[in-house]
Amino acid sequence: MHIVVKKLQLTDAEKALFEEPQFIHKKSLKIKKEDGSTIELPAFRVQFNNARGPFKGGIRFHPLADEDEVKALAALMAIKTAVVNIPFGGGKGGVQCNPKELTKAEVQKVARAYIRAFQDHIGPDIDCPAPDVNTTPAIMAWMRDEYEKQTKSYSPAVITGKPLAFGGSLGRDTATARGGFFILQEMMDREALDPEELTVAIQGFGNAGAHMAHYLHNAGYTVVAVSDSQGGVYSPEGIDPVRIQKYKGKTGSVAGEYCEGSVCDIGRMKMDNVQHITNEEILELPCDILIPAALDNVITADNAKNIKAKYILELANGPTTPEADAIFETMNVRVIPDVLANAGGVTVSYFEWTQGRSGEQWTKEQVDSELKRVILEGYKAVRREARREKVSYRHAAFSVGIKRMLEAMKVRGWL
Ligand code: GLU
Repeated sequence: MHIVVKKLQLTDAEKALFEEPQFIHKKSLKIKKEDGSTIELPAFRVQFNNARGPFKGGIRFHPLADEDEVKALAALMAIKTAVVNIPFGGGKGGVQCNPKELTKAEVQKVARAYIRAFQDHIGPDIDCPAPDVNTTPAIMAWMRDEYEKQTKSYSPAVITGKPLAFGGSLGRDTATARGGFFILQEMMDREALDPEELTVAIQGFGNAGAHMAHYLHNAGYTVVAVSDSQGGVYSPEGIDPVRIQKYKGKTGSVAGEYCEGSVCDIGRMKMDNVQHITNEEILELPCDILIPAALDNVITADNAKNIKAKYILELANGPTTPEADAIFETMNVRVIPDVLANAGGVTVSYFEWTQGRSGEQWTKEQVDSELKRVILEGYKAVRREARREKVSYRHAAFSVGIKRMLEAMKVRGWL
């Protein structure tokens, strides 16, 4: 962001609006565990900018979620909503915890405690949270329920990413992957590249990564590798995401068809021409398209030069460090940045919010075609800017986003 702010030659007053969030809310959530002990979890809601509309962005439950991370992610959300031109600002939330070590009942307590802690700062017209790393539709349902209880209101639009049975939107679960898929298809088409001749590696097999694997496989791409935090599988001939999903469901890991932890059935792997890889090794495999779809800061100055892919589609938020980005520019690697590549999620959140406010229910086809229109308009704006200014897609996306935010701030009279 800093490089772009510099290049756009903003005034000091303009710059200040991009340096710090408008509000940082911090609380400590006291949770009584089922064993009788009490834990205190640091919790955050950072509201970066609301010039273009209510603050918008997910809440993550993760051991590494701290103020700095949530601040950075909130800024990305403000840029993202501006890039796809939906009427929202940007914000982000986090609870520093490991939900995998909590029972379902304890996770529900965390969700409800989060809403009680921040209820004065959120609302359909104020700040509308959503899912992020480790937060699910079920968690969104508990949060909406808690908000409605506390405020004695009917507020389906207070949060998005809810289950279909409780005000969710069709197509929200697949939206992040679907948006990235539309962009990739458009880009490959324009470059006259045939999916049948392209190989893809996907790091992360959660909501975004798993759905992406299916879309690509069905469109004829060869998905050569997938991984999750416990490791992954690689086969130059391609793997079948349906089978991977099945074994992940059974064993909890994408390598579960062949391995239990680090112990693998070598005979079967040989027969299927599959190799076991780590979650780090997947980034450096020979492939045309690399899709980081898990956590931030995984592509760094250390591994960037070993990356063989010519295209990187960032379904995760912040997977590439600025140092790695600079290396890619010299290597001619095209990075489709998170603020564009994964904006499908927040775009369908916008559709869900609209449905919550109007009481309408959209069909799956409506969601899909509107998502395609919105995300490809964002993509075209970024591509135009990149070509015109001869800058990377990340640089171009930030400049499109910042300019749109500035316009709104000027109209409001903040500048
Ligand atoms: N957490 C998602 C993101 O980073 C979705 C945010 C939303 O839907 O508000 O874009």
